[in-house]
Amino acid sequence: MTRAEVLRWLRESDPAALDELWARADATRREHVGDAVHLRGLVEISNRCARSCAYCGISAANRDLIRYRMTAGEIAACARQAAALGYGTVVLQAGEDLGIGREWLAGGVRRIKTESPLAVTLSLGERPEGDLAAWRAAGADRYLLRFETSDAVLYGRIHPPLAGRPSDRIAILARLRELGYEVGSGVMIGIPGQTFDSLAADLELFAGLDLDMIGVGPFIPHPVTPLGRGELPDAPAGEQVPNTELMTYKVVALARLVCPDANIPATTALAILNIANGRELGLARGANVVMPNLTPARYRALYEIYPGKGRSPNTAADRDAGLSCAIERMGRTVGAGLGPRRRRL
Ligand code: SAH
Repeated sequence: MTRAEVLRWLRESDPAALDELWARADATRREHVGDAVHLRGLVEISNRCARSCAYCGISAANRDLIRYRMTAGEIAACARQAAALGYGTVVLQAGEDLGIGREWLAGGVRRIKTESPLAVTLSLGERPEGDLAAWRAAGADRYLLRFETSDAVLYGRIHPPLAGRPSDRIAILARLRELGYEVGSGVMIGIPGQTFDSLAADLELFAGLDLDMIGVGPFIPHPVTPLGRGELPDAPAGEQVPNTELMTYKVVALARLVCPDANIPATTALAILNIANGRELGLARGANVVMPNLTPARYRALYEIYPGKGRSPNTAADRDAGLSCAIERMGRTVGAGLGPRRRRL
């Protein structure tokens, strides 16, 4: 797909024309990854964070937030729950918490890999290479690190580096690949200052990085953050990407077309914009993964990277048959096995 075609879709507003995009994305999804919807249990293991990202509600700059880090036993219990529910994967996500030590987490990963058949995905931010290598050696299978935007100037504005340590997420993604992880990345949609051109470049980068997993969601302003307070400028009129549900579906569909065999979730942020059926529409327009939240309720409320997250729709109700029923009503099946990327040769 050329840059011009991607841009045309990103700017398309005619529902009848968009039906063609949805149909193409759904057909590509079916052909390349089939009807299985893989479930990944999300466990938000810590809301402590050393960074000051201008978009994120658990930024170190948010001094009013009560901070937590789950114990090794609590994490193991959540993993057992994921396995008992028949999920193939547990995803351990956190702020960039330097209190999550190399050996401590390696022990936690080994424990899950010993006690269960689960795949383990980590999403712990920009960690030193030695940590990433140790966790891979301990058995971690996958790592998620969104590059957030491919526009270097915008990235610098919303994602300040730690003193003396430039933030190069693209380089970390390459290193993760060399270490043998399945590699996931993605962007937020509708960040103030994000242009249509830069979003089209993001989609090209998904293909260029040959991503195994692609997570995209709308930017949702959090009032305690600089972006939520409107302190950073929008792109010029006509260039600013809106942070809407519709734009998110377009990016999910286009991600499917440019990376046909990637695993693509219908993300929580999308479900929050449309509680009734955002997730179903995501699955109908290119997505093949759902990540139900298994974080214990008392912590979940404190992992509010954007408003509403702590009360995300894919939580308690999903632990019963509700989610499986919704998947089956769509003519899809709940994925068996670990749900890795299967490359088409
Ligand atoms: N500390 C980890 C995990 C961050 S949370 C890391 O930095 O990778 C996972 C994702 O949530 C982020 O990568 C970002 O894309 C998304 N996110 C954070 N704040 C958001 C907001 N206000 N609106 C929408 N998505 C947000």
